[in-house]
Amino acid sequence: MTGQSSRSVGHVPPGQVTLVGGGPGAAELLTAAATEALRHADIVLFDRLAPNDELATLAPNATLIDVGKRAGSHPVSQTGIEQLMVDHALSGKRVVRLKGGDPYVFGRGSEEVLACHRNGIAVTVISGVTSAIAVPAAAGIPLTHRGMSHAFTVISGHAPLTENELEGLKLLGSTVVVLMGVGTLPTLSQGLLRHGMSPDLPVAIIERGFSATQRTTVSTLSAVLADAATAGVRSPAVLVIGEVVRLAFRGDDAAEDLVARAAAFAVND
Ligand code: SAH
Repeated sequence: MTGQSSRSVGHVPPGQVTLVGGGPGAAELLTAAATEALRHADIVLFDRLAPNDELATLAPNATLIDVGKRAGSHPVSQTGIEQLMVDHALSGKRVVRLKGGDPYVFGRGSEEVLACHRNGIAVTVISGVTSAIAVPAAAGIPLTHRGMSHAFTVISGHAPLTENELEGLKLLGSTVVVLMGVGTLPTLSQGLLRHGMSPDLPVAIIERGFSATQRTTVSTLSAVLADAATAGVRSPAVLVIGEVVRLAFRGDDAAEDLVARAAAFAVND
């Protein structure tokens, strides 16, 4: 089949599953399609980092099921989540699987889509605003800037990188964004230093983006372990490693200072 469906992306038919990207936590950063899918949902299976506070209002007709994983405790296993999704769809419900950020960025979204396919259930995916980009932006950090960084690599800190991967990051020389990276910060920072990245390379750790307690800790590759320990940095947090951290506009900076920092990297067209 080719061409566009005449139905909107947020339309959730009975007996089907819609994977919805909930964005980085602020209800305003839900897409219009996500809001529509939630409004029509009978069942919402939601995660810890999805925008949970407003869910009862956003999905007024739905049974809300918390399947959120917290470090060290999994209230519902991944297989259990997939089973719930499939069972509710088979019983004819409009099922929304609400995930933090974008469903296809480290969210096991693709496994959940496959589980639907295995069980003959139609599934659609609604992209969300990923924390990989939005959380740095909430701290004033652009991931690219002409003359400074023309690429960014988003990595998962869930498991340590291999030596080849560390070398690849060094060679690419781009901005590195790390999700789920608090626990593996020691191996990552030491690995990047071992592969020759500059000890002075700026690092920012942004905790709890878009919440009332959002906090940014700025350090360098060589000092980040000590600084993170002193600050008591905890998950969830997004790490940004790269020169672009110098462009972070924090409220206490003078705008002229920021412009001067950027000017050092200016390129002429
Ligand atoms: N699919 C999600 C990422 C899932 S992995 C997305 O696209 O955003 C979960 C990780 O995302 C967390 O460990 C943390 O590194 C990051 N994260 C998600 N929301 C966050 C937030 N509001 N503040 C800080 N980190 C966040």
